[in-house]
Amino acid sequence: MVGGLLLAGCQHPARVATAELPSSVDGGDLGDGAGVSCGARHPGGIALQILGSGGPIADDRRASSGYLVWVDGRARALVDVGGGVILNFAASGAAIEDLEVVVLSHLHVDHSVDLPALIKSAYFGERSRPLPVIGPDGNDLFPGLGDYLGALFGEQGAYRYLGWALREGEGPFVIEPHEVAAAGEGERLELGELQLSAVGVPHGAVPALGVRIDVGGRSLAFAGDQRLDDARFIGAIAGVDLLVAHHAIPERSGGPVRTLHAPPSAIGAAAAKAKVGRLVLSHHMIRALRGLDEGIAAIRESYRGPLLLAEDLACVPIE
Ligand SMILES: [Zn+2]
Repeated sequence: MVGGLLLAGCQHPARVATAELPSSVDGGDLGDGAGVSCGARHPGGIALQILGSGGPIADDRRASSGYLVWVDGRARALVDVGGGVILNFAASGAAIEDLEVVVLSHLHVDHSVDLPALIKSAYFGERSRPLPVIGPDGNDLFPGLGDYLGALFGEQGAYRYLGWALREGEGPFVIEPHEVAAAGEGERLELGELQLSAVGVPHGAVPALGVRIDVGGRSLAFAGDQRLDDARFIGAIAGVDLLVAHHAIPERSGGPVRTLHAPPSAIGAAAAKAKVGRLVLSHHMIRALRGLDEGIAAIRESYRGPLLLAEDLACVPIE
C-alpha cells in the first residue's frame, strides 16, 4: 500500500484546472507550444515565446514570469527570469549564446530568481561576449540591479563561486549590468538589431520597468507587474503589435494589491489607449483566473482587438 499512499499524496483535486482554460479568447492564436522550437517554426520573422505564464504562487502549474523574443530563428531577448524559466528556456531550444539582452523588469522573486541558474548554465556553453542585463535602480526597500548582482556574485555574494561573471578575464564571459532609473524618463538602448526602450512603471514601492522592443519592423511590449495607469509607459508602447500584460488580480479586488497591479479594466483601457495590435494576458494568478469571465468582460469594455491567454511555451508570431 506504500505505492497507493504515495499516489494519493501526488494528487490535489482542490486546485483550479488552469490547463483546461482556452489559450485563445477571441481573434488570436497562441499556436502549439508543446516543446516545439518557436524559432524553428518562424525562421524568418519575429515571434514571442512565453517561458513562464504564472505569478509568484507555486500552485498554478506554470513557471513564473519569463518571455523570449525570437528573431529569424534565434532567441535574442529574455525578459524576466522567474522560477521555472530556466527549465522552459531549455525546452524552448533557445541558446544562451544568441541572447543580446536579459531584462529583469523588477527584483521580485517571481521575475528574477532563476538568473543565477541561467548564468551557471551558460558557464558550460560557448558564450564569450558580454551578456547585457538590464534592470531598475534601487530605493530604500530594494537593491538596484548592480547591488543585486553584487549580492549574488560579488566577493561576499551568496554565489561568490560564480564571481567570474562580474570580473573581466576570469570566466568565459561577463555580465554587463545596466540600471535604468525607475523614476526617470526612461532609456532607449541599441542591442544588436534590437531597439529596447525601458521606462519606470508603478508597482507599489518596488522599482520596476516596462519594456518595448522594436526589431525588424515589428514591436512588442512587456508591461511587467504594474498598475498600467502611468502615461510614460502607455505613451512608450503606442501602436505596438503586441502587449503582454499581467493578469494578477481580478476585477473586484480591492485593498493594497490595487497599488501593485492592474485590474482587467485597467489592462483593457491601457491597451485601447495605446492602440496595441494584440493583447496577451500572462502572469496568471488563481485569484484572477477565478474571475476570468468578468475580467474579460471588463477588458472588452474598452479593448476590442485580439486577446490571448498565455500558456507556458506558447509561441506567438508577430506579423
Ligand atoms: Zn510578479
